[in-house]
Amino acid sequence: MKRVLLKLSGEALAGDKKTGFDEATCIGVANQVKQLVDQGIQVAIVTGGGNFWRGRTSETIDRTKADQIGMLATVMNCIYVSDIFRHVGMKTEVFTPFVCGAFTSLFSKDAAVEALEEGKVIFFAGGTGHPYFSTDTGAVLRAIEIEADAMLLAKAIDGIYDSDPKVNPEAKKYDEISIQEVINQKLAAVDLTASILCLENKMPMLVFGLNEENSIVETMSGTFTGTKVTV
Ligand code: UDP
Repeated sequence: MKRVLLKLSGEALAGDKKTGFDEATCIGVANQVKQLVDQGIQVAIVTGGGNFWRGRTSETIDRTKADQIGMLATVMNCIYVSDIFRHVGMKTEVFTPFVCGAFTSLFSKDAAVEALEEGKVIFFAGGTGHPYFSTDTGAVLRAIEIEADAMLLAKAIDGIYDSDPKVNPEAKKYDEISIQEVINQKLAAVDLTASILCLENKMPMLVFGLNEENSIVETMSGTFTGTKVTV
């Protein structure tokens, strides 16, 4: 694989704190991504926003406004994480689908691909730029647009299970499953909109635990212990 899109959940960035950032976790991610970049792999990153804000959790304010706050939370995440990446020695650029002044660059496929080819790690912040979507959907959309070979989904859980392992100790992890089965069985991997985009545009996914030691590097080197989602 030459070009991948790595999706980091917001909660995973927060580590045990559950909110904000856990710097050690982010530095760990940055060091792993640097190993990939040093091997010549092009990496684009989408972060979630759940460590700050979720649009649908507010029952008081308008959903569209709440989602705007959610999208801005992902911009904060990307500015933070990209600077941790810069700190460990990588060149980075943050793209948003809406103008954020001088804080970020406006997304276009051409600008994003050019940045990747210059050796930068790029961040897609602000999701799709529209309410009622998730960063999962934004991540699949951008993976398709930049013609990534696969989407790497780093989650708090180490793969896709047939039921919630926190509730059911007998839950079985899949080594491999098709995206159609994920949709049919309503398995919690990515949300339905994101799954349908993967299916229609044949974007495979590798789902694994961010907290497992060296999991990003191992996923790319073939010693993969998560769930492969085929298309
Ligand atoms: N969001 C949005 N449009 C997008 C991506 C994200 O409105 O294209 C908002 C939405 O409010 C969401 C929040 O940003 O709850 C954080 O995104 P994330 O995908 O982490 O949310 P989650 O699915 O975990 O709630």
